[in-house]
Amino acid sequence: MKIIETIQELQTIIKEVKKNESAVGFVPTMGFLHEGHLSLVEQAQKECDFVVMSIFVNPLQFGPNEDFDRYPRNFERDSQLAKNAGVDLLFYPNVTEMYPKEPAMKVIVHEGVDVLCGKSRPGHFDGVATVVLKLFNMVTPDRAYFGMKDAQQVAVIEKLIRDFNLQMTLVGCPTLREEDGLAKSSRNVNLTENERQVAPSIYKSLQLAEELIINGERQAEIIKDKLIKYLEQNRSGNIDYIELLSYPELKHQKQLEGKVIIAIAQQYSKARLIDNIVIDIK
Ligand code: AMP
Repeated sequence: MKIIETIQELQTIIKEVKKNESAVGFVPTMGFLHEGHLSLVEQAQKECDFVVMSIFVNPLQFGPNEDFDRYPRNFERDSQLAKNAGVDLLFYPNVTEMYPKEPAMKVIVHEGVDVLCGKSRPGHFDGVATVVLKLFNMVTPDRAYFGMKDAQQVAVIEKLIRDFNLQMTLVGCPTLREEDGLAKSSRNVNLTENERQVAPSIYKSLQLAEELIINGERQAEIIKDKLIKYLEQNRSGNIDYIELLSYPELKHQKQLEGKVIIAIAQQYSKARLIDNIVIDIK
């Protein structure tokens, strides 16, 4: 596995790789890798000849009072995990490499960001779309792999690819979980012991919503109220949002129908966790 810190070296290697008509798969991450990230690599390996992973904690997508400084980092461990997973090229730029000057422009996302994390974290998806567009231009992948754990991000990147005519395919991959159901996340290490014990109630409440829908409940408000009660009884952090929306349009529905996302964000003392499930209601 090659470890590359500059854009120039990255582009030289990609050019060589593409001479052989190799399909390039790309897995962008913020590091502190876990099996969720590695499952994206596994998928990329199945479908591509050459797998690029990036590790970059992007300051542009963090708000002023968010956890940019606290975001866990461990490059030694990450590079070992990436190597063992079969990543061919690990791109590890620093902030100056990615943003050598104060940027003169950025991508503004104005559809599908009035809900969920777009609402709670103003400007977050502008930062995501901007860095992802930059990375896409550097790596020029044939296929890019993103986790459905960040389903709103997948919806935004889908539109980024469409609106800027990028020639690549986005692949949304399933959420990997701990044995007790908690979605794997780099931020889980910032939970206290007690918070870690109660955090699986996020996924349990999503399962409760699924059960209600399977049993015929279609009213979004009723399901939402039950989930709030469930989470409050299980004293699991403070609810940032619980929303039931159409997916990938991310529109409110009174009566649920079609493809629906149930998404939760919970604020703990030093970590904000998100999770969701997408259900196709026939
Ligand atoms: P992050 O490093 O958190 O920005 O995540 C990098 C990529 O890994 C994103 O596409 C995430 O959606 C994906 N990812 C994060 N957690 C998981 C998980 N538990 N299962 C599958 N993919 C994940």
